[in-house]
Amino acid sequence: MDEPNDDGGPVQVVRPTLAEVLLAVEELWPESLAEDWDAVGLVAGRPTSSIHKILFAVDPSLEVVQEALEWGADLIISHHPLMLRGVNSVAATSGKGRIVHELIEGGCALLTVHTNGDSAVGGVSDVLADALGLQEVRPLQAAQHGLPEEGIGRVGELPQAVQLGDFAALVFSVLPAVAGGVKVAGDRDALIRRIALCGGAGDSLLPAVQAANADVYITADLRHHPAIEAREGRTDGRPYLIDLSHFASEWLWLPAAAQALGNVLDDQGFEVELQVSQLNTDPWDFVLTPGEA
Ligand SMILES: [Zn+2]
Repeated sequence: MDEPNDDGGPVQVVRPTLAEVLLAVEELWPESLAEDWDAVGLVAGRPTSSIHKILFAVDPSLEVVQEALEWGADLIISHHPLMLRGVNSVAATSGKGRIVHELIEGGCALLTVHTNGDSAVGGVSDVLADALGLQEVRPLQAAQHGLPEEGIGRVGELPQAVQLGDFAALVFSVLPAVAGGVKVAGDRDALIRRIALCGGAGDSLLPAVQAANADVYITADLRHHPAIEAREGRTDGRPYLIDLSHFASEWLWLPAAAQALGNVLDDQGFEVELQVSQLNTDPWDFVLTPGEA
């Protein structure tokens, strides 16, 4: 497409191909940083396709694909894989099959940036650490194949000690609003400073949180037994726990990721439109608490 420049003459707009977008993605979130069990990379799409509009989303749900197609997107970059495990069929009789059909029939590619997006500098947990003002941030668990500053989860320090209740309010304020809100285990008035966090389901990192001597651990999908065992591990009840919506804990990365990819493509002379999905794909719709039931 040609657009007029200041002199009224045409300016050539250069769209990248999908293959060129994949190279830019690899620069930011290398596939080598993905965990061995993960399935990242291109799920659907032709490398030779021209890319004009890219939509970022946490989940490649049918609604997200429909949102992308309505906007005219040629590529969805989703955090979660559509197919983490092998499948024998993509017939449109299954949920995942319908999504694959919508994508291909709508001319939209799908790319997964999952644990490579978690591990990378500027990744999911880094963005959350940044939003909370943490300093001296380092990975909670080093990447299997990466640099020392790359890895899953982050631990860092607040500039000064604050009360757990106030800190939880800060966490709540930086995240997108979801029905489940934010759950906290710990003494509301306790002073805390060292914060460990992991976007997404992070209870497998509890031993690393304890080794890091963190006052608080922020993650999503914390299960009953690991949570209790972690808090019984020390006599002072730490780490206190802040349990987030899985979706909300990872959503914060999307605007930062879109901006980062836009910058890389812009530096290479490409023009694309980038947008973050407006859909809330958190599965929960309402909660009852003792005060309201
Ligand atoms: Zn996740």
